[in-house]
Amino acid sequence: MGAVMGSKNLKAIAVRGSQDVKIADPKRFQGVIDAYRETLKGEVWTETLRRLGTPNLVTHRQKLGIWGAKNFQTASIDGWEKISGEAFREKYLVKVMGCMGCMVRCRRYSAILDGSCLPFYTKGPEYETINALGAKPYITDPAVILRGHHLCDDCGIDEQSAGSAISMAMELYERGMLKKEDVDGEDLVFGNGEALLRLLEKIVYRKGFGNLLAEGTRIMGERLHADYYAIHVKGSEVDASDPRSMVTRALTYSVATRGSCHLRGFPYIDEFIKPEEGLKYFGTATVSDVKALEGKGKLVAWSEDWITVANLMGLCIFAWYRSRTFSMLIKRGLELVTEAYVSATDLPMTQENLLRCGERVYNTEKLFNWREGMGREADYPPPRFFDEAMPDGADKGAHLDRGDYERLLDDYYTARGWDPVTGRPTPEKLEELGLNESDR
Ligand code: SF4
Repeated sequence: MGAVMGSKNLKAIAVRGSQDVKIADPKRFQGVIDAYRETLKGEVWTETLRRLGTPNLVTHRQKLGIWGAKNFQTASIDGWEKISGEAFREKYLVKVMGCMGCMVRCRRYSAILDGSCLPFYTKGPEYETINALGAKPYITDPAVILRGHHLCDDCGIDEQSAGSAISMAMELYERGMLKKEDVDGEDLVFGNGEALLRLLEKIVYRKGFGNLLAEGTRIMGERLHADYYAIHVKGSEVDASDPRSMVTRALTYSVATRGSCHLRGFPYIDEFIKPEEGLKYFGTATVSDVKALEGKGKLVAWSEDWITVANLMGLCIFAWYRSRTFSMLIKRGLELVTEAYVSATDLPMTQENLLRCGERVYNTEKLFNWREGMGREADYPPPRFFDEAMPDGADKGAHLDRGDYERLLDDYYTARGWDPVTGRPTPEKLEELGLNESDR
C-alpha cells in the first residue's frame, strides 16, 4: 500500500470525524474490554514489552542465533549486549510510552544527551530498528542506530528497506563487486556507522549512490547483476529473523501477500501449541513439533486469517500476538473479539464467520497480487536460505531444503483452496467465500 501511495505522490490520508462513535451495548462492550485486559495480565510477553519494548528481542535473537546479520551471512553478533533492550533502557530511555488506553505500553521515547552528537529526542527504537540499522550492517554503536532511526522517521522512509539496501551494498563492497568510486568514495565495510548515516541521508534526497539504494534490494540486484545477494520476497526485504532453522517461519515470510513480513502470519504457534490442540485445530498432533512439516500449511493459513481479523478490528497485534497458551490465544483473539464486535454493532457474528472475514480479505489480497503477475513463483524465500547453511549460533548448519519447501507450499495452497500449480485462488474457493467475478 505504501508503494501504491508513493507511486501516486500521496503521502497520507487524514480523516476527521465530527460525531461520536456509537456503541450498541456499552455495558456489554466494557465487559469485553475488561475481560480482554484481564487476559493480558501476567503474560510474560506483556510485562517484558513494557519494561524493554520490542528491543527485548535482541537477547532472544542472539540466544537462538537467528540474526540476519551482515546481510544474512552471520546468525550472531559480537558485542550484541551494547544494542540490547537493557542497554538502550539504561543509557537512552527518557520515558515509556503507550498508545491510547493500552496497558502494555511497549513504546519508547529516547534521547542522546551524552555529547556524542547534537542533543536530540526521538521515539523508539524498536527491535526492527536495531535489526535493520544494527544487525544487518553489523553496527553495535547504539547512538548510530538511534541517529539513523531518527533520520528515517523524520524523513518518512522505511528503515527496514533502507538498512537492508545498505547492508547488501556492504556485502557487495566487501566481495569486490562494488568499488569505492561506485559508492561515493565510502569505505563501505560492515560496521561503518558514519557511512550508514551519510547514505541514509542520500537515500532520502536520492543523491549519488543513494539514488540506487533508494530502489531497494530487488532492483539493486537486477542493476548490479547481484540478485543472489538481494534478500527479499516480492521486493520486500526479509525482516525480523533468519528463517533457515524454522520452516513455518520461512513459509510465513514467503507467502505473505505484501512481501516478506513476520506480521502477516504468526509463525511461532508451533512453539507452544499442545499436540491435542494441534489435532483439534489443524488435524494433526505433529503441528506442535517445530521441525515437522505436517499440518504447517494449514497452521500458517489459519494464522494469516487470524491476524487479518486483528487488522480488520483495529486491534494492536502486539497485545494479542504472543500468548502463554494456545487456548489463551483463541480466547483473546477470537472469543472476546467476536463478543466485542457483537456488543459494539449489535450485528450477528460468530467466531467462525469472523475468521472467514479474515480469509476473504486474504484471498482478495492474493487476487490483487495475481493480477500484478505474482503467482506461485513469487512465494519462495531467497536462494541464500537454501544454498548456504547458517554459519554459527544455536542452529549452526541449518538451511532450507528445496524438496521440503515445495511440499510445504503444496500443503499451504491445499489448505487455502488455491491452485497448487499457479498459486491462484480457485473459482470454487472464491464462490465459497462469496467473492464473485465482479469482485475480482
Ligand atoms: S497498542 Fe500496541 S503498539 Fe501501542 S503501546 Fe500497546 S502494545 Fe504497544
